[in-house]
Amino acid sequence: MKILDGQLVSQATKDELKIKVAQLVAEGKKVPHLAAVLVGNNGASETYVGSKVRTCEEIGFHSTLIRLDESISEFKLLETIEELNNDMDVDGILVQLPLPKHISDEKVINAIHPSKDVDGFHPVSVGKMVQSLPTFIPATPHGIMLMLEHYKINTKGMHAVVIGRSNIVGRPMSILLSANSNPGNCTVTICHSHTKNLREICLQADIIVAALGRPEFVKPDMVKDGAIVIDVGITRVPDATKKRGYALKGDVEFDTVAPKCSWITPVPGGVGPMTIAALMTNTYNACLLKH
Ligand code: NAP
Repeated sequence: MKILDGQLVSQATKDELKIKVAQLVAEGKKVPHLAAVLVGNNGASETYVGSKVRTCEEIGFHSTLIRLDESISEFKLLETIEELNNDMDVDGILVQLPLPKHISDEKVINAIHPSKDVDGFHPVSVGKMVQSLPTFIPATPHGIMLMLEHYKINTKGMHAVVIGRSNIVGRPMSILLSANSNPGNCTVTICHSHTKNLREICLQADIIVAALGRPEFVKPDMVKDGAIVIDVGITRVPDATKKRGYALKGDVEFDTVAPKCSWITPVPGGVGPMTIAALMTNTYNACLLKH
């Protein structure tokens, strides 16, 4: 069993970007600028946005964090996005999800100009991804593909089972893995909460991508020997032994599943860091395309 080390690959991606930014600075060119919008003070969202902003600093990108009150109206938030769309210095806009219930995720995502859609959630970006045209790929699936590429894992002809069909992870993941490209070229089965015989389907998988948000859901009796297992899940589970009061759990029961796998991602240190690396790559590309 080998570990797909997201920390290591993410660091390599960030180091490459750091060099590219230093080159831009040396040539007097524009430095990429990411604007992050955080509504309310959800603990997990604070953590995610905080690490995205810190990573911008680490690489040498400019970043702006816009904090808005939980009670902000949808109209006001849409106005903020319009201002960022019109701000020539901003290359990428991300709005941290989830948003409060009174705000439509869909309206907000659709308000971001596709040229600044570094999260890759806008319908224009998604449409291009489906047609394998150059575009911004949603950060988590993009990060997973970068990791497979880094480890030279050729998935051609494999049967991939993706558990979860969200627009953020499961669905784009199924599209990328089924694309006529490398990595990709898999036969893909996408599963969800109404899937029958999930265990039997998983047992046929050469690759399992678990993105359902149910801690330790994937057990060893669902995984065939030699499978590749990508664990996307991150759930905060109360844990009194931890200083912060919780532990981070993936969707895979790592200790029991890992011995059966050829490759597996740990949680933390697998898909999470790759998501940030992919977001930074998207932001760099957004800047380059515009300038
Ligand atoms: P989501 O929007 O809640 O979607 C969950 C998906 O899982 C849905 O399609 C749901 O089916 C399916 N599902 C739920 N229970 C199931 C079950 N028992 N059997 C089979 N399918 C089931 O979640 P998400 O945003 O995709 O995120 C999934 C997990 O990944 C979460 O833990 C999240 O925190 C994590 N995540 C991690 C990163 C990272 O950077 N590592 C990034 C994004 C998300 P239905 O469609 O039928 O409801």
